[in-house]
Amino acid sequence: MLTGMQLAVIGGDARQLEIIRKLTELDAKCSLIGFEQLDHAFSGAVKEKMDEVDFAHMDAFILPVAGTNLEGQVDTIFSNEKVLLTEEILSKTPEHCTIYSGISNSYLDDITQKAKRTLVKLFERDDVAIYNSIPTVEGTIMMAIQHTDFTIHGSNVTVLGLGRCGMSIARAFHALGAKVKVGARKTAHLARISEMAVTPFHLNDLGKEIKDTDILINTIPYQVVSASVISKLPAHTLIIDIASKPGGTDFRYAEKRGIKALLAPSLPGIVAPKTAGQILADVLAQLLQEDLLIRKEKAR
Ligand code: NAP
Repeated sequence: MLTGMQLAVIGGDARQLEIIRKLTELDAKCSLIGFEQLDHAFSGAVKEKMDEVDFAHMDAFILPVAGTNLEGQVDTIFSNEKVLLTEEILSKTPEHCTIYSGISNSYLDDITQKAKRTLVKLFERDDVAIYNSIPTVEGTIMMAIQHTDFTIHGSNVTVLGLGRCGMSIARAFHALGAKVKVGARKTAHLARISEMAVTPFHLNDLGKEIKDTDILINTIPYQVVSASVISKLPAHTLIIDIASKPGGTDFRYAEKRGIKALLAPSLPGIVAPKTAGQILADVLAQLLQEDLLIRKEKAR
């Protein structure tokens, strides 16, 4: 249980609703910031504006997956107001107050460091990233179906990167009957790709390996799908780039060449917000309960 905990849930999309549901069920008190337009009410949660909240007793901040933008703004689909997280706000919280976010950026890293508050990036955890790869795969399949006039079955699919998402994507497209190749740079990854019964290649050979690609799926958050790579793709290739913004594709050059290239962020939040929210809610509940236990032990 989270009885006695005071949490600020700030902004986000439908995934945050699953988190609020779970945390209030566990008896935490939640201040919902950036939710004025949300119709639903949760017992134990109150909608507040940032300047109305008493941060002096806040045990944790729950930010949406993207955290803030580089100016400190938190995205929210349930409010028209600008929700800003600043170092000044964090400094008003007790020292133990922890900031939970999916990912971070230089702004969020900077304000949490300056305010000396702990920042937990949930997507750096293998368990969260692996569970989250499931709705990500479903979203990638949805995009491939929506943006092509051929079946996945029998098509040449190239996946770049064998991380948590790359592995799940390669396996799912293989199971759907695509001829899958995966590009990676580590020998252990190349061995794993062979073991998965799909075709491995080293990223150094990317230019040579993509000549017959129908669907190119990039999971590498680094510009690997360069102009030179795009120049070697067949004109009909669909590029789906799921890597975090700005993606790993030279979108300007793809457009110039007339190749359809889609940056596809937040797929779990689009195709399965309930599941994606539950994944985060379960991990958050566990982490907050551990936090509470540690503080109770210390207080004894
Ligand atoms: P991950 O497990 O860290 O995998 C990243 C992959 O990229 C690894 O194979 C890594 O290989 C490779 N890589 C990283 N930097 C590289 C470089 N400079 N050159 C070559 N390869 C490089 O990450 P993930 O969990 O699979 O997520 C992949 C990306 O998708 C992330 O940007 C994540 O934020 C994003 N994502 C997006 C969605 C969405 O809905 N669009 C959903 C989930 C995740 P090495 O091991 O060799 O470094």
